[in-house]
Amino acid sequence: MNFFSSFNSSEKSEEKNLMNLPTERVKCLILGSGPAGYTAAIYAARANLQPVVYEGLQPGGQLTTTTEVENFPGYPDGVTGPVLMEDLKKQAMRFGTDVRFGMATRVDFTGPIHKVWIDDEKIIEADVVIIATGATAKYLGLPSEEKFKGLGVSACATCDGFFYRGQDVAVVGGGDTACEEASYLAGICRKVYMIVRRNELRASKAMQKRVMNMPNIEILFEHQTKEIVGDEKGVNGVILVDKNGNEKRIDITGFFVAIGHHPNSEIFKPYIETDETGYIITKPGSTHTNVPGVFACGDVQDKHYRQAITAAGSGCMAAIDAERYLSSKQNV
Ligand code: NDP
Repeated sequence: MNFFSSFNSSEKSEEKNLMNLPTERVKCLILGSGPAGYTAAIYAARANLQPVVYEGLQPGGQLTTTTEVENFPGYPDGVTGPVLMEDLKKQAMRFGTDVRFGMATRVDFTGPIHKVWIDDEKIIEADVVIIATGATAKYLGLPSEEKFKGLGVSACATCDGFFYRGQDVAVVGGGDTACEEASYLAGICRKVYMIVRRNELRASKAMQKRVMNMPNIEILFEHQTKEIVGDEKGVNGVILVDKNGNEKRIDITGFFVAIGHHPNSEIFKPYIETDETGYIITKPGSTHTNVPGVFACGDVQDKHYRQAITAAGSGCMAAIDAERYLSSKQNV
């Protein structure tokens, strides 16, 4: 037996093992536990769809990495991200949602019953699947960035910009998101530096014009971030390196990373249509994907708004779409 035949046979046996796992049948399976997943669960549970939620890699989603949330309606004094997510989880469980640890590792959406593998250890067969797996903000990968996350380093100006009003901040990135974040911050902060690694912006011409015309935005082209510096109170500066290797420090209290997001849609791609950047495509004005009975909500299908409240709104839409889909099937 040569190397390739042995490799193929071990792959085949692994494939066979994955088909022979314990199987459970559910009506409504929700993947993801951010505002979209839990709102879908609240509505689905109240519509008697007996939803099962798998929390995924980051239980509670992206909001659990932020501190204060001041723009979620219904919390006049603000709320921390983890508390908000715990509240949403409790509300979903109050109506009977079955919330479980575990992560979807593969899917098979070819048949009328949708199959989802959890941790490659069991298979869930579901009449409807709601994908609410979110998106992950990309970070630069510096140890100092990790150290100051939530203490001056953020990936969301709309969420955290308010805490830096009247102060000097920096935004790293040169795409549409970075330009949007910079112009939003320019309306709140004294000065905004944009740190751009090339000698041009990637953003659309309209967005470029907007940031160029704002007097308190300074674009530092051909600069990269070497280190974010600060103390126990948080960030107080950033050390940059230019294309010639010269270092300089700028004094800032907020460091906003806007170098893109990565939608968590990889495992669905063999069946579910996505755009060129991986965001799931839903039929306009709905959460229907190209596969009947599979719905998508929240950041995995939204690259424009990416807010907790818009994710929650689309989670509600997904549960209503799922309920109507199931009723229409029963009436056929
Ligand atoms: P993009 O991928 O378009 O831009 C990412 C930016 O970050 C680029 O300037 C890139 O630099 C820079 N970057 C990436 N990695 C690093 C790094 N390690 N260090 C320094 N800089 C880095 O992401 P966006 O989130 O801006 O946009 C994603 C998509 O969403 C786009 O299609 C965009 O048009 C769309 N969008 C549309 C909006 C709108 O229409 N209102 C708003 C927001 C997004 P480089 O250019 O050198 O690669």
